[in-house]
Amino acid sequence: MSWSPVHLPSYIAGQAVTTGRTLEVRYPYDDSLTGTAALIGPEHLEKAITSALAFPNESLTRRDRHDILRRAAVLLAERRDEFAALITRETGLAIREAKYETTRSSDVLDFAAMEALRDDGRIFSCDISPNGKPRKIFTSRYPVKLVAAITPFNHPLNQVVHKLAPAIAAGAPVLLKPSDRTPLTALKFAEVLYEAGLPGPMLSLFLGGIDDIVTPMITDERVEIVTFTGSVEIGKHIARTCGYKRICLELGGNSPLIVLEDADLDLAAKLAAEGSFRNSGQRCTAVKRILVQESILEAFTERFVDLVRREYPCGDPEDPATVVGSMIHAPAAAELSRRVDDAVAMGAKVLHGAGRRGALLEPTIIADVPREAEMVALESFGPLAPIIPIKDLDDAISYYNSGPFGLSSGIVTNNLSLAMQACKQLKTGTTNVNEVPGYRLELTPFGGTRDSGLGVKEGVIEAIKFFTHEKTWSLPW
Ligand code: NAD
Repeated sequence: MSWSPVHLPSYIAGQAVTTGRTLEVRYPYDDSLTGTAALIGPEHLEKAITSALAFPNESLTRRDRHDILRRAAVLLAERRDEFAALITRETGLAIREAKYETTRSSDVLDFAAMEALRDDGRIFSCDISPNGKPRKIFTSRYPVKLVAAITPFNHPLNQVVHKLAPAIAAGAPVLLKPSDRTPLTALKFAEVLYEAGLPGPMLSLFLGGIDDIVTPMITDERVEIVTFTGSVEIGKHIARTCGYKRICLELGGNSPLIVLEDADLDLAAKLAAEGSFRNSGQRCTAVKRILVQESILEAFTERFVDLVRREYPCGDPEDPATVVGSMIHAPAAAELSRRVDDAVAMGAKVLHGAGRRGALLEPTIIADVPREAEMVALESFGPLAPIIPIKDLDDAISYYNSGPFGLSSGIVTNNLSLAMQACKQLKTGTTNVNEVPGYRLELTPFGGTRDSGLGVKEGVIEAIKFFTHEKTWSLPW
């Protein structure tokens, strides 16, 4: 398919900014030019901050914020195909994945619009204790004065919408630096928000260097909150750097799908494939290890391989029939190929896939992967499905809990007490029974613990709370 490269400015307080310095974005599938994004300078960051702080954001009523979000949802729906095409050209993800991502982002906007109308203030009567008084205590929320947000390459639209929509619902101004690999979708979405009526000073969305823009942004004392989604390494670096601020870190995962001997094996195979290969395995909640009880190892593996052979074609991301597109760039795919080779040298066997051309890595199923192989000890952010035998659920739980990650998990079983044991004992932010680890509503609390995050949740409802302060006040009653 032919493509005309797009050249986009950064946006500072609603104004398009170009500096003559740009960042190139290339299509991972064939390395052709997807477009360029303008880089800003320190003076633009300063303008973004002062404009945001000078804007009377309390003048935006709940109804105003709701209407902006609703209009953005309508505009995004009208431009779904345009956004999906750009997501594919930035990420190499299959077009069907890119389209799905736009629908998830619409959900985020709808939920944020809905929540913008809801006041979650609380009322406490003070005459409920012998020490009480005839008074009432009330709580209400007001927006923080300035948010700095940083987003990763995977889900280049939805990650951005998950930061911006709740902030708009809360009435908090945002400075957002999207991934350098996928900035164009984010910049296009900023245009949608301005067109939907978001006042310019409420959002600056820009690209810039780590030393001259990003570090000054997160360390600036006028920024009250830093919200970051990305790798463990950079997340921990940000926690060390940003100083006295409230932070939200949504970091990497290494999620297990545990398949027990009573499981519906067709369902288990389907969940293993969807969890491992959707978004080319580049989801923080993707299945990264399939832990299968020894008694059903052979039967499960046979069905899984058969399903993937039939239903997960890999190739041209713009072909609607393609299920697995390319990874974000060739070096990332080469690193995963190296991890496959290492695991094979340790005794693992490739049952399907492993072929690679540039950033395109086939969906790969590997059996008998030793627990100490890098492929499973680290987060392997791509379409690898390592199968690891387990004795029983206790074995799976102690193996998972002994590692550093704590994002999400899934278990396939029809045994209620084992399902409940997994929900209680797996040290992860989410456990889904008979579902992939990543299943969620965009509204519900989402986020990890241990190396995957500080336990501060996202999801529209929690993120709105995060972008506000809660004021407690009381009256005689
Ligand atoms: P990354 O950490 O390399 O980059 C994330 C962002 O940080 C990018 O915008 C990048 O430009 C920026 N960055 C890089 N160096 C920085 C620095 N020194 N200071 C400040 N910002 C810096 O992550 P990635 O490769 O874009 O994304 C993949 C990772 O994100 C995976 O580990 C994945 O699991 C994780 N992730 C987590 C979640 C979640 O919700 N928990 C969701 C999506 C992705």
